[in-house]
Amino acid sequence: MNSEDRKAASGQLEVVAGCMFSGKTETLIARLREGQERGLRVGAFKHTIDDRYDPEHLVTHAQDKFPARRIGQADSIVEESDGLDLIAIEEGHFWGRTLLEVVQQLMSQGKQVVIAGIHYDAWGRPFPPMPELMDLADRVTHKYTACRVCGGQARYSQRMIPVGENLMVGGVGDYEPRCARCFEPLADPAPEQE
Ligand SMILES: [Zn+2]
Repeated sequence: MNSEDRKAASGQLEVVAGCMFSGKTETLIARLREGQERGLRVGAFKHTIDDRYDPEHLVTHAQDKFPARRIGQADSIVEESDGLDLIAIEEGHFWGRTLLEVVQQLMSQGKQVVIAGIHYDAWGRPFPPMPELMDLADRVTHKYTACRVCGGQARYSQRMIPVGENLMVGGVGDYEPRCARCFEPLADPAPEQE
């Protein structure tokens, strides 16, 4: 997006980035509720790949919930967002780079967009399209939690079980938050990033 496009876009983007268990969904739900209190029409979206806990809600690890629509492709978010003022998107790293175009479209319609996602994958690489989204964002909120090993500031997600099909769809026990010192990246070969 060049600077003129940027000016034309009256919407706003906030990216909430962090490791597993850093409270990203808590922040997403808080933004949705703040929006509702301000009288905005809000909607939350989650990817169909994410079938943990509850397919019809955003769910925090402490079991707080907010209704969400499940969608299989990023571009469907645009039509599903018709009539909404504030759109919250869970697990930004599941949607691929199409999400960038979707977000730009929503912003050009003057909408507020909040996206939560994992900053680094289990190999320690920035998880696309999170860096690009953060670049585009008006506000980036970094979430941290305590490193499970040393108690330091964790920004990485340590994979604790072998990688299966659902990369980075993890529940309690599959991942551990780790700081940069305690994080052990998975051995190569790492899958190609889309
Ligand atoms: Zn540590």
